[in-house]
Amino acid sequence: MDLKYQSGDPISIKIKNRIIGRETFTVIAGPCTIENYEDLKRIVLFLQSQQIVFFRGGAYKLRTSPYNFSGLGAEGLEIIERVARETGTISVSEIVSSQDVDLMAGKIDILQVGTRNMHNYRLLQALGRVANPIILKRGMSSTIEEWLFAAEHIIAAGNPRVILCERGIRTYEPLTRNTLDISAVPAVKKYSNLPIIVDPSHSSGRRDMIKALSWAAAAAGADGIMVETHFAPDSTSCDSQQTINESTFLEILASLPQLISLWQKRLT
Ligand code: PEP
Ligand code: MN
Repeated sequence: MDLKYQSGDPISIKIKNRIIGRETFTVIAGPCTIENYEDLKRIVLFLQSQQIVFFRGGAYKLRTSPYNFSGLGAEGLEIIERVARETGTISVSEIVSSQDVDLMAGKIDILQVGTRNMHNYRLLQALGRVANPIILKRGMSSTIEEWLFAAEHIIAAGNPRVILCERGIRTYEPLTRNTLDISAVPAVKKYSNLPIIVDPSHSSGRRDMIKALSWAAAAAGADGIMVETHFAPDSTSCDSQQTINESTFLEILASLPQLISLWQKRLT
């Protein structure tokens, strides 16, 4: 693989006194989509009560059907910014257009590029201009090599703070939404020096599998997980079937220290 920027020692990404990298295991949780201030605040306070400071939530949603709720947009960004400020936590939200780079870079801590945009090289290049860490999801039909080259586009354009996220790939298996490619974790660690996290929610599309896949990610040596979590998953307007509740989240969390000690990591 002819990568120019990913061959040195593994990088650590520092953000607000937290480190994302090979020495840590970062847990990012929260709703698929931001629905209102009160619900997001409640979720973030719950996470904080468990010492989890990274929260996720979409303001701009790319939905397969144009007739589905596509997020609160700019109003959602205001809500995320307010909750992060009031709680001192770290936000993650998806950017879907290069037109939004300046607006979102000022309001959101970590910008996420979703699976549908991994090949949007103009967006990736625009993200080279900001200082925010970028979570780059794997394209649903992309090889690991294509994904690492996508990361090169961001780094070559000036932003080395890239975190890779395995979120499942398309296969012939219909029982799960996608197939989690757990081998992507050791593969990325071999061929790249970027942090690699796993999203068990979009990988499986199934609430009943999130615990097993989260633990699998930790056992495989991932640098973190991103999990769709809500206090009332069935009431949510997007991806409720794969969103876990607080008690499942607590179960996952309880056994993580044991698993990540296999890799001499600490929870963050
Ligand atoms: C998400 O994390 O909100 C999301 C839409 O994921 P993906 O791009 O992996 O489908
Ligand atoms: Mn989702």
